[in-house]
Amino acid sequence: MNSKTDFPNLSKIREKIIECVKCAFCKANCVISKELLWESASPRGKMLILRGLLDGFGTLTEKTIESLFNCTFCGECEKDCLAGISLGEVFLASRKDLFNLNHENKLSESATLQRVDLLCQRLQENYNPLGNLPEERTIWELGQDVQLPKSAEIIYFVGCMPAYYRKMARTTFQILKALNVNFTTLGTDERCCGSLSFFFGDERTAKELAQYNVSKIKESGAKKVITSCPGCLRMLRLEYPKILEKKPEFEAIHITELLTEFLEAGKLQFQSELNLSIVYHDPCELTHFNIYEQPRRILKAIPGIKLLENSENETPSCCGGGGGLMSLNANLSIRIAKRKLETALDIGAEALVTCCPACSATFTSAAKEYNLPINIIDLQDLILQSLKKIEN
Ligand code: SF4
Ligand code: SF4
Repeated sequence: MNSKTDFPNLSKIREKIIECVKCAFCKANCVISKELLWESASPRGKMLILRGLLDGFGTLTEKTIESLFNCTFCGECEKDCLAGISLGEVFLASRKDLFNLNHENKLSESATLQRVDLLCQRLQENYNPLGNLPEERTIWELGQDVQLPKSAEIIYFVGCMPAYYRKMARTTFQILKALNVNFTTLGTDERCCGSLSFFFGDERTAKELAQYNVSKIKESGAKKVITSCPGCLRMLRLEYPKILEKKPEFEAIHITELLTEFLEAGKLQFQSELNLSIVYHDPCELTHFNIYEQPRRILKAIPGIKLLENSENETPSCCGGGGGLMSLNANLSIRIAKRKLETALDIGAEALVTCCPACSATFTSAAKEYNLPINIIDLQDLILQSLKKIEN
């Protein structure tokens, strides 16, 4: 049913697809390949499917669409590809083409694309993927003594999950307050960073959200933006400059980067001993910026925290929830998360600590589903518990 003209985004990067030599190095650290074992689920398999679609010897079925969406965009395949192919770019192009085909009513039978569309519509209408009301974005402020200045040098870009699920937004707020950081937020003027629209191929919405957020940050006059969500960080720091073809006039950093600066300057001091053996999980979106050491440095500074590391041979791997997979195929996501939790339990961890609301949600669902005796804790919760209040 499909022809080359159905895939304009893939056609533009055809040379990247035909460069694949089918060696399968990309499979080694792919969490999807490890879990599903089918060739079509692997990055090499996806490349073969896409070559078939472009060259007219493959057909789009629900199974192939599902395979193309069974990806967390963790980026491990790209790191391992000896041919140097930007697999992320290729997979993203395929999603843009599938999204557009669905909108041209050419794939309206696809259950996967119907789900993608539903989630993208929420972003278009409510500016968050959860379907909550935009005016309730500041719901996390309820019961908190939130008095923020109208403008400040630093904006805390709260993000959808921290804002609507409330806990992470409150913890970040309390830590920043305790450290006397001069910051504010965009309040109800903030909209989703656009991560899900971006990963689901809805280019128009991703661009509108990027333009809107950048203009609001610019209006505020802030030069620095802090995120507690690594997904927001990826969008603001890595994707917005590409989407808008212009680097925004602010620097975006993750809260762990700011807190490491405070730690090194002696301004982040801990006092309460927490007595906990933990494993730290690296959120994929932070690894793209080489943020490995900062969270570990903070953890090592908290009295009583015993930081356990997995064996050196083990590559850090995705929680299973990235790239929108948790919203599309929660069962697969939590099977992947279960493997990581079991590894953490094997080395004696009482808790798995991370600093990403999406990773935390995936791991929490997996621990519950499989009844695993491990706590999932956000790094900021540990920081707040042990923090020594700095006086002016
Ligand atoms: S590692 Fe690169 S070249 Fe080898 S199969 Fe995977 S995508 Fe193709
Ligand atoms: S991005 Fe990650 S999940 Fe997706 S194919 Fe590559 S290694 Fe697998």
